[in-house]
Amino acid sequence: MQPAAPLPDPPSDEEISSSTFTTLGLGRPIVQAVIEKGYTTPSPIQAQCIPAVLAGRDVMAAAQTGTGKTAGFTLPMLERLRHGPHARNNVVRALVLTPTRELAAQVAENVAAYSRHLDLRSDVVFGGVKINPQMMRLRGGADVLVATPGRLMDLAQQNAVKLDRLEILVLDEADRMLDMGFIRDIQKILALLPPRRQNLLFSATFEASIKKLATGLLHNPVQLQATPENRTAATVEHLLHPCDMARKPDLLCHLIATNNWQQVLVFSRTKHGANRIADRLNQEGMAAAAIHGNKSQGARTRALAGFKSGELRVLVATDIAARGIDIHQLPHVVNLDLPNQAEDYVHRIGRTGRAGCNGHAVSLVAAEEHELLRAIERLIGNRLPREEVPGFEPKVLSAPPLDLSGGRGRGGGRSGGGGGRGRAPAGRARQR
Ligand code: AMP
Repeated sequence: MQPAAPLPDPPSDEEISSSTFTTLGLGRPIVQAVIEKGYTTPSPIQAQCIPAVLAGRDVMAAAQTGTGKTAGFTLPMLERLRHGPHARNNVVRALVLTPTRELAAQVAENVAAYSRHLDLRSDVVFGGVKINPQMMRLRGGADVLVATPGRLMDLAQQNAVKLDRLEILVLDEADRMLDMGFIRDIQKILALLPPRRQNLLFSATFEASIKKLATGLLHNPVQLQATPENRTAATVEHLLHPCDMARKPDLLCHLIATNNWQQVLVFSRTKHGANRIADRLNQEGMAAAAIHGNKSQGARTRALAGFKSGELRVLVATDIAARGIDIHQLPHVVNLDLPNQAEDYVHRIGRTGRAGCNGHAVSLVAAEEHELLRAIERLIGNRLPREEVPGFEPKVLSAPPLDLSGGRGRGGGRSGGGGGRGRAPAGRARQR
C-alpha cells in the first residue's frame, strides 16, 4: 500500500544522521520517512519503546491515543522486519490487532507511510467489506498485517493467512478489544501463533483483565508508561457548560457558530442521537455527518475522509466508532452527552491535544448527568471548570454537593448548593 501524497524533497544526510530517531537505532530509510512526515523529536513513549523493541524485548505499555504510540511500535517493528526474509505465500510476519476498523485503517496508513522507502508488503483487513479481495491480496503474504480480530479469524479459518511463522505480535488498544468482547477471537488467534515471537501490548488502562491477558502473553516485558495512568493529556483544556438536556442541540449550534469552530468532533452516547444532531447541524448550514455502528463501512470511511479534508465541519460519533480516530491537531472535541464509562471520557478527549498540540474539550452537561460527571472527575483527579453560556443557563439544577453552576458565565455564583466553588484557572481543569 502506498500513500497518495507525492514524495517531498528527501532530507539531507546531515539531517538523517543527526536525527534523534537515528540515535535510537532506526535505519536510514525509516528515519527518512519519519522526517518526511514532519516529525523531528521522538515522543516520550517512542524514546522508550523504540530501543526496547529493537532489542527484541516484549513490551507492555500504558499509552493512550495521542502519545505517538503507533510510531512507537511501528518504527522499530519495520526496522526489525526489513532485515529478515520477506513474506510470501500467505505468511504474515508481523500482526497488529486493533479493536475497530477505523483504527485498523489508521494504523495501516501509518505503516504505509513509515515503510514507503522499504521493500516490505503491508496490508489491512477488517470486517464490513468483502472478504474475497482480502483473500486474493493475502496470497502474496504480508510483512505487516493490520487486522481486527473477527475478520482475521475468518481469514485464518479459510486458510487465507498463515500465522505459524509470525515474528511480532502487537495488540493495540487491548483494553478496548476486551471491552468489545474480542477475548475469544484473540485467544483463538494466539493459539495459531508460534511460541517464539515478540509481543507488544498497548493499552490505555491496566485493569485486572488486561493484566491477566498480559501474564499469559508477555515474557519478561519492559514496562512503559506514556502518561500517568488515566490522566488526560496535559495540553487539553477542559470546560463544562451546564445546560438543560433539551437545549443541548441549540447550545452546540451556538458554540460552533459563535466561536467559528471549523473542525469539531462531537460525541453522542447513542446512534440515534448522533443522527439527529447531524441532521440538525446540516439544517443550520454546518456540514455534518454521523458515524456509528449502523452505518456501512463505506459511509464511515467517506465521512471520515470528508472530515479530514475539511469538507465536513462536524463529525458526530459514538464512542466505538470514534475509537482511534486520528486527525492531526484536531482542535475541538464536544461531548454532547457524557459517556457512560468514565474511562471513555479520557478516550474521547484523547482525540484532541495530541502529541503536544493544544486541544479543547467541551462537555455539555445536564443535571441528570451529575453521577457520570462525578465518576469522570474522580477518575481524572480534576474538577472540570464550569462556565455557563449566557442564554443557556440551566433551569434544572442538580442537587448539592455536585451542582453544575458556579461558573464564569453570566449566571456565575447562582444558587444551587455551593455555587461559585467551581471557578478554576482559565480554561484548565484544576487539581482538587
Ligand atoms: P498516536 O498516539 O499514535 O495515535 O499518535 C498521535 C499523533 O501524534 C498522530 O497524529 C501522529 O501522527 C503524531 N505523532 C506521532 N509521533 C510524533 C512525533 N514524534 N512528533 C510529533 N507528532 C507525532
